[in-house]
Amino acid sequence: MARLGSWIESHPEGIYVRPADAWIDPSQPKARAWVTHGHADHARGGHGAVLATTETLAIMATRYGPQSGQPIAYDETIRVGDVDVRFVPAGHVLGSAQIVMEHKGERVVVSGDYKRRPDPTCPCFVPVPCDIFVTEATFGLPVFRHPDTGSEIDRLLHRLHSDPSRCVLVGAYALGKAQRIITELRARGHDQPIYFHGAIERLNQLYESFGISLGELRHTGGATKAEMAGHVVIAPPGALNDRWSRRLPDPVTAMASGWMRIRQRARQRNVELPLIISDHADWDELTTTIRELAPREVWITHGREEALKHWCMTHQITACELNLVGYEDEDD
Ligand SMILES: [Zn+2]
Ligand SMILES: [Zn+2]
Repeated sequence: MARLGSWIESHPEGIYVRPADAWIDPSQPKARAWVTHGHADHARGGHGAVLATTETLAIMATRYGPQSGQPIAYDETIRVGDVDVRFVPAGHVLGSAQIVMEHKGERVVVSGDYKRRPDPTCPCFVPVPCDIFVTEATFGLPVFRHPDTGSEIDRLLHRLHSDPSRCVLVGAYALGKAQRIITELRARGHDQPIYFHGAIERLNQLYESFGISLGELRHTGGATKAEMAGHVVIAPPGALNDRWSRRLPDPVTAMASGWMRIRQRARQRNVELPLIISDHADWDELTTTIRELAPREVWITHGREEALKHWCMTHQITACELNLVGYEDEDD
């Protein structure tokens, strides 16, 4: 167990907020869980009571059934035990939040997963200066610098238009990335129907129910090859190389992920068109955020902690790695 300040503890199964008797994103069922966002490695079923944004609770309900959840709006402050707690936007996926806690004059912010660049599907990250900042570090190496999202979308569209007899099949995580790709395409003026794999249908509907408009979407089931030629098809990454894709008209296989920076990762999935589009902060976003928040201490979770820890130390900020278990790169 590591201690964060005097009242927050890091355990392998999550961060424990002692004066509120609550766990943040616990990997084991707990009586009281505060959940930053709906990705499966952060939001698990089986907790006694969940505090999360309305959107996150709805995402959890589609995955685990109804939750005994208490919704909290962005920027609303509630008192739990001896802690004032507030959720503020993290800019990661629909409903994602950082958790801001104050206790005895000390402020701790747990970022959850976050990014700084604009995303049409959720409000932008709000920087909250704090004493202790708990940050993710999925892309915590200087080699990870994500390019401009618009230019990646343009590459996708260029490829699509260069051969109307083929489709472009984009692998994108079902929660967040898939809907972001669709809205980014719409923002670049692409108003054609977009085809989708059945596995992302419920989340598309959920996003639309929260007012994120995705334009005309069509299920690939029942569509002919001729109909899908010249169109974008979105599917979860696991479907890129399976039998399902044989129904598509000579697909150009693309994948939207921060990991596409690594050529070997693209090759492993037989990706012809790697698109570097991530829902996580890249190296510059991580370091800019730490500079901006100017915390006394930084605690670093899931990812490549070592380089960011070193960076903090060279900038006179105390830093430490948290050894939380169960976080995966499911949602990059
Ligand atoms: Zn996530
Ligand atoms: Zn995560």
